[in-house]
Amino acid sequence: ARRKLSSIRKASAQTEDGTPIDLMANIEGPQDIEDVRGCGAAGVGLFRSEFLFLGRDSLPSEDEQYEAYRTVLEQMKELPVTIRTMDLGADKSPRWLNHGVAENPALGLTGIRLCLAEPLMFRVQLRALLRASVHGKLRVMFPMLNSLQELRQALAQVDYAREELRDEGQPYADSVEFGAMIEIPSAALVVGSFLKHIDFLSIGTNDLIQYTLAIDRNDDSVSHLYDPVHPAVLQLILHTIKLGTRGGVPVSVCGEMAGDPRLTRLLLGMGLRKFSMHPANVLAVKQQVRNTHLDRIAPLTSRMLRTEDPDRIVDLLQQLNADTL
Ligand code: PEP
Ligand code: MG
Repeated sequence: ARRKLSSIRKASAQTEDGTPIDLMANIEGPQDIEDVRGCGAAGVGLFRSEFLFLGRDSLPSEDEQYEAYRTVLEQMKELPVTIRTMDLGADKSPRWLNHGVAENPALGLTGIRLCLAEPLMFRVQLRALLRASVHGKLRVMFPMLNSLQELRQALAQVDYAREELRDEGQPYADSVEFGAMIEIPSAALVVGSFLKHIDFLSIGTNDLIQYTLAIDRNDDSVSHLYDPVHPAVLQLILHTIKLGTRGGVPVSVCGEMAGDPRLTRLLLGMGLRKFSMHPANVLAVKQQVRNTHLDRIAPLTSRMLRTEDPDRIVDLLQQLNADTL
């Protein structure tokens, strides 16, 4: 199977009926670029920038961040690189962050909340990103948004950073795209209000599942209840894809669901055309994409999306993944 997979490395990612699908890679830093190029991904769909901030005693400087972003952008050449602003606080809390011990960190000062509470720290990152933008095709997205207000505040910080750079005569690209991560149910439900402010959406299913089902994604005692195909989760994903697509705003999934070939047909049937995943999963998902005819999966996927019975969903998913379909 391994030999067969590597044989499609250069093959195009398109369905049997010829619909092109973007398969991108998730990375944690410049050290992962070799894997991205090795798997033939169409770009970086999620660079978890917080890894630059972990395992050290102080914040990385603007120049240090700039160098890391620039390296990734240059190495990916003309391909898009989607950098998520630091997503610290919940499960990733660095030593230098002195915000006390939260009783409930997953519901605490995390992601964009932390950045908006520490605007100086946030702006250092935004400046580094904007400065790096002249070296490639940069997209920037914000994690853990729960309202339009937070999105507006994050974009206002971008404007502020741009103004500073302009005053200093430092170059940056005007073509940078900005996106919102949808990983809290409230954001999925109000996603329509985000559309006119952004260039793209990316669904973080790892957290979306956690917050929709009230299941700690890292707690083994409830891992059997962590269900990516729970009907409530599917409805939130579907709603996001539908509204984004209708509004002309491209939607991707960058959580683990995107890298699971057993869910590829379901996501395609829901209208998803962009996937971002661990580089190790790209070829297996590509094989499934190439093995899927959109017209033939439509009836089963719409049945899956109409039922609220989990057993029926499992049964339909099995039928959907049949080799003969
Ligand atoms: C997600 O929540 O699905 C996601 C992509 O972000 P992370 O896994 O880093 O929280
Ligand atoms: Mg997340």
